[in-house]
Amino acid sequence: MSTKRDYYEILGISKDASASDIKKAYRKLAMKYHPDKNKEADAEDKFKEISEAYAVLSDEEKRAQYDRFGHAGIDNQYSEEDIFRTADFGGFEDILEHIFGGGFGGFGGFGGFGGSRSTRRGPQRGADLRYDLDITLKQAAFGDKVNIDVPRAHTCDTCGGTGAKPGTEPVKCSNCGGSGQVTHARRTPLGNFVTATTCDKCHGMGQIIESPCETCNGSGKVRKTKTIEVNIPTGVETGLRLKMSGEGEAGSPGAPPGDLYIVLHVKPHERFERMGDDIVCEIPISFAQAALGDSIQVPTLYGDVKMNIKPGTQTHSVLRLKGKGMPHLHGHGQGDQLVKVIVKTPTKLNEEQKKLLKEFDSLGGGSAGSGKGGVFDKFKNAFESVISPDDSPSDSPA
Ligand SMILES: [Zn+2]
Ligand SMILES: [Zn+2]
Repeated sequence: MSTKRDYYEILGISKDASASDIKKAYRKLAMKYHPDKNKEADAEDKFKEISEAYAVLSDEEKRAQYDRFGHAGIDNQYSEEDIFRTADFGGFEDILEHIFGGGFGGFGGFGGFGGSRSTRRGPQRGADLRYDLDITLKQAAFGDKVNIDVPRAHTCDTCGGTGAKPGTEPVKCSNCGGSGQVTHARRTPLGNFVTATTCDKCHGMGQIIESPCETCNGSGKVRKTKTIEVNIPTGVETGLRLKMSGEGEAGSPGAPPGDLYIVLHVKPHERFERMGDDIVCEIPISFAQAALGDSIQVPTLYGDVKMNIKPGTQTHSVLRLKGKGMPHLHGHGQGDQLVKVIVKTPTKLNEEQKKLLKEFDSLGGGSAGSGKGGVFDKFKNAFESVISPDDSPSDSPA
């Protein structure tokens, strides 16, 4: 860039010129140099020069910056575009309108920021949908295929999504010229700086439906319920989202539909509680079974299995059934089932039973330990876990 002239000098004003002095000076020069009127070869450059000087000096912050640091203070901080975009050319619409001739399209060789800045909205992708799906623990464990009914917007078959009555066509929106956006131009000598908002008249569609389709009332969409098959993978848990691409709401014509997200909720099970990939359940056994040991049937997700109760098993002992828990969601293997044994103290004893128990007690069998301190022992035992020896505490992938 060649050396720039001083902005004050360009506008022919003094350093302490007021805002209205600056405006006046600019108006005078703009009228003189605007390229419509002035056919001299350098009119356009001149016009740009005075406009830049005005853009800087009419902005308090930029003017202060310029006063302190000169051109360097401006050029290092703002692009040419910035200078013009933020400048206030209010009050000069008459001059600028005249020069630009109304329409957008830039000015001379340095216009055209406008067009490239406005982003056409175009066809809109359909909205995503969420569906909350309750499943059982068994479904969560082993997976399932379930059908769900999803109410959603479909493209209207009658009009193919255009919203126009068959035989008619939507017409281009006159408000936005079909772009779907209304541009609010700041007319500046560097071109039209444009901020775009969605057109009110056509709501961004760029077209107006004069004879609306009777099926969809012009929306191009109808609400229908679609039955969708959902594949629940094995080992899922509450909160897992399954994405089904393209199963959301229909988009506008030419645009893809949204996606459907299925959020899984595992319902509580009456017997099993889930802890990560382990399943916890409680099994009541009798005092005699606990004392003498037994082999009992334990329900698992995989059906009943036999479990050995060792003689002398304490209440609240936890026994582990390896591999009887939830399948791991990603990868192979499964968790374990933890069986908490609850020793039931008999409540309704007949005379015979009472007699036997008393006899048993008199033989020194009443308390598990010393015969004294039984309550303490029970407490202690309640928090002890009996883990069968072949168990490892970790969920090793099998
Ligand atoms: Zn329709
Ligand atoms: Zn419009």
